[in-house]
Amino acid sequence: MPARDGSLVSGPINPCTMGTMARRDSDSGLKVTISPRGAARLKEQHPWVYRSDVVDADHIRPGSLVRVLGPRGRFLGTALYSTSSQIAIRMISLEEVSDLPGLVAQRIRDAIAYRTEFVSGTDAYRLVFSEADFLPGLIVDRYNDVLSVQILTQAMDNKSIREAVLGTLTAELNPAGIVERVDPRIRELEALPPRSSSLIYGNKSSTTIAMNGTGSAGVRFQYDGLEGQKTGAFLDQRENYAAAARHARGEALDVFCYQGGFALHLAPRCSTVTGVDSSRPALEMAEKNAALNHREMQWIEANAFDLLKDYAVSGKQYDTIVLDPPAFAKTRRDLEKAVRGYKELNLRALKMLRPGGILITCSCSFHVSPQDFLETVASAARDTHRTLRVLQSRLQAKDHPVVLSVPETAYLKCLILSVSN
Ligand code: SAH
Repeated sequence: MPARDGSLVSGPINPCTMGTMARRDSDSGLKVTISPRGAARLKEQHPWVYRSDVVDADHIRPGSLVRVLGPRGRFLGTALYSTSSQIAIRMISLEEVSDLPGLVAQRIRDAIAYRTEFVSGTDAYRLVFSEADFLPGLIVDRYNDVLSVQILTQAMDNKSIREAVLGTLTAELNPAGIVERVDPRIRELEALPPRSSSLIYGNKSSTTIAMNGTGSAGVRFQYDGLEGQKTGAFLDQRENYAAAARHARGEALDVFCYQGGFALHLAPRCSTVTGVDSSRPALEMAEKNAALNHREMQWIEANAFDLLKDYAVSGKQYDTIVLDPPAFAKTRRDLEKAVRGYKELNLRALKMLRPGGILITCSCSFHVSPQDFLETVASAARDTHRTLRVLQSRLQAKDHPVVLSVPETAYLKCLILSVSN
């Protein structure tokens, strides 16, 4: 799942590699046989098959390239196999694959070409987004001249694949440094040996980036590849920052501000901007980013739930409020609790917005659907007797592509609302 915690671990199918394949199994290569339910899922163009739908996978080593066979022995395509994840199979092609490193290199070049065509006005963006770029288990972010790589599956951790990734990135982009960001929880889930985050190429792990404009015309941020949450910045919000700035006004409050992404974009439009986050290191970086952009802002280290409660009780008022909390629902089971969390935050923010104010409210929980989210915000509006009109209903930036047949690739929701009364 491609959530804010970088856990999008899915795997779309490249339409270019789709062909009609009614080939029968031959004896070459490792084979995995799947159930009718698993085969039906692949037919829907979803790249995952769960372990419960694997019928036969004898003696397959972690991270192997496997030929996937349907219930009657029909060849369905080639996949990456995990011996430990609940997602046992991630499709990589509907055809036979004999040179996986070569295929990975080509897919990386394709992902770069996609960004060249569709992403502009920034030197920081996601270059490879796992299943959304037909490279399940690989995430690469570009921060100006530094790249950040995350490996999320057994297959992508194989030596030959790591070499292909590194070789292609250096040949295509000539970065000053490449850092590998390790999520220990994911390595544990994939039964991979522990590893620490480190510089794996070149000599540079920190740099300065500019987004929504180039150089000093953009909003600038410091990036340290070996610090911070996720792979550094929340690049998925880049286009939403610019959209929010177009509507922002007056006194603004950025709740869950992290290193100041929204706050710094709102600053040129607002009389004052205050950022709130519970992480001191994030706020220290936010303050450095404010200085880099020659802005004066206020940062408050607090639990947002407590602070909003106090503010609402004491009658504090704002003209613009941003809510961008972490994913409340990491699994479907958390849905109800997550909805309660979103409701409470939106309720408190609505109590504090002046008439004519702007609410920018986000959810990065894949398990909370756009409809669930809209209904939650609507119910907060009803309870506070406010009328909201939707100015924009947005999702993640284009460098985090949404693949229509893979719902997990669409996770971020961002509503920009005007408060009428
Ligand atoms: N808006 C940010 C991203 C926010 S990510 C951006 O665009 O860059 C979520 C943030 O919420 C993290 O910085 C995390 O430190 C913070 N956070 C998590 N729980 C919190 C809480 N209870 N109160 C305040 N901040 C919290």
